[in-house]
Amino acid sequence: MTINVSELLAKVPTGLLIGDSWRDASDGATFDVENPATGETIATLASATSEDAIAALDAACAVQHDWARTPARQRAEILRRGFELVQERAEEFATLMTLEMGKPLAEARGEVTYGNEFLRWFSEEAVRLYGRYGATPEGNLRMITTRKPVGPCLLITPWNFPLAMATRKVAPAIAAGCVMVLKPARLTPLTTQYFAQTMLDAGLPAGVLNVVSGKSASAISNPLMDDNRLRKVSFTGSTPVGQQLLKKAADKVLRTSMELGGNAPFIVFDDADLDLAVEGAMGAKMRNIGEACTAANRFLVHESVAEEFSRRFAARLEEQVVGNGMDDGVTVGPLVEQKALDSVSALVDGAVSDGAEVVTGGARGSGNGYFYLPTLLNNVPRDAQILKEEIFGPVAPVVTFKDEADAIRLANSSEYGLASYVFSQDMSRIFRVSDQLEFGLLGVNTGVISNAAAPFGGVKQSGMGREGGLEGIEEYTSVQYLGIRDPYADQ
Ligand code: NAP
Repeated sequence: MTINVSELLAKVPTGLLIGDSWRDASDGATFDVENPATGETIATLASATSEDAIAALDAACAVQHDWARTPARQRAEILRRGFELVQERAEEFATLMTLEMGKPLAEARGEVTYGNEFLRWFSEEAVRLYGRYGATPEGNLRMITTRKPVGPCLLITPWNFPLAMATRKVAPAIAAGCVMVLKPARLTPLTTQYFAQTMLDAGLPAGVLNVVSGKSASAISNPLMDDNRLRKVSFTGSTPVGQQLLKKAADKVLRTSMELGGNAPFIVFDDADLDLAVEGAMGAKMRNIGEACTAANRFLVHESVAEEFSRRFAARLEEQVVGNGMDDGVTVGPLVEQKALDSVSALVDGAVSDGAEVVTGGARGSGNGYFYLPTLLNNVPRDAQILKEEIFGPVAPVVTFKDEADAIRLANSSEYGLASYVFSQDMSRIFRVSDQLEFGLLGVNTGVISNAAAPFGGVKQSGMGREGGLEGIEEYTSVQYLGIRDPYADQ
């Protein structure tokens, strides 16, 4: 299907979704959205003020009571209808993501499939929110536990997966019966704006989902988090911003879900199938131009196979085509903005001056966009900055290890604990190593593990809470326990 870009952009609401209408900001302010492949402005949106944020919370709170009492089946069917509409509009969503974020169109289509699955998954989970029934050990009380919607939520999403990060929060909140105010990333709000309109088209009652895009994130989040009516913050983004939000959340003792940064080790043991390892490395490193929290950040390879692994991996990286993600054949798009390009470039330059060897890449690409060449670095010193920070770009630093204990020590030597990858053909080694790895997610002989049916989330400074799976909906509920005097208690 060929999409007419100007017609598509004209369909995307440019206002703030507050209650039943898209409106201008209270002070008339706007901000521009840019295409990172060309540097051109592609849209201008209303920029929410603090007053707009509170108006959005007012609209949400006005319907919380009725929404919580809407039968689960009805909420499930709205989600299912949303899933079908996103599927019908898949090519439009994919095009929007490529335009505003830069990922190649084929990957953007993949994100539509992945992101939309949260709507289908939680449409199925909405009717399966079970409680428990039992008796106290002393026999004096009957116990019933139920799960209730946690209440009005603030959802804050990042720019790297503009659809999936929104559906991963909005779908379970709808399923659980919560109302919400959603703040998309300033760099990529268009997909979210169109998604919110799609949910209205699917029959979501006005007020349940409100969207406040804007150029000042804290002007939106601070007044909301100071408001006693807000009950939860679900945030996906960087660890430093997550830490700030956690401190702020303490003031009102808000429930929080924090999906933060990562620094994934990708461990290749000497018994690994190297074909699988290289295939996995391409997925774990190059998906989303390396701009993923799950991106392999440190390639830890046994010294006996390192040379062969690097040779094959570099050959695959050299086959990649860098360019505008809208163009046929392009497999690596631009980074999201100039700051991101400068940061990736500085990390590579720093590693090289510390002694790393550039096997391939190691330089910016040409053109107006924020391009960086797929890069492989060998002999990276163990204390190099590039191994400590999220690279968030198409750069693979390789470090060799001597034995299993060395690999585990290296892998765990990070304050992050989100994704990790292990390549080995030895099942006992896989279990032994996974027991010792301090990460919320572990890919075994695969480089791509995200799935709506799986609980996604980290440990250590990668955050708390889980999205997706059976766990995802629980984040939007609180347990209520009823202790009922047992009729036989006094007999
Ligand atoms: P970011 O700078 O932390 O921004 C994330 C979101 O928070 C954006 O909507 C941003 O708004 C907002 N924000 C920024 N400063 C804020 C503040 N002081 N108060 C309230 N909100 C604020 O992260 P990013 O650069 O968009 O995303 C990349 C990061 O997200 C990486 O660290 C990546 O690992 C992480 N991530 C984690 C997961 C996961 O599931 N664990 C998934 C995807 C991404 P503006 O856009 O307006 O700045």
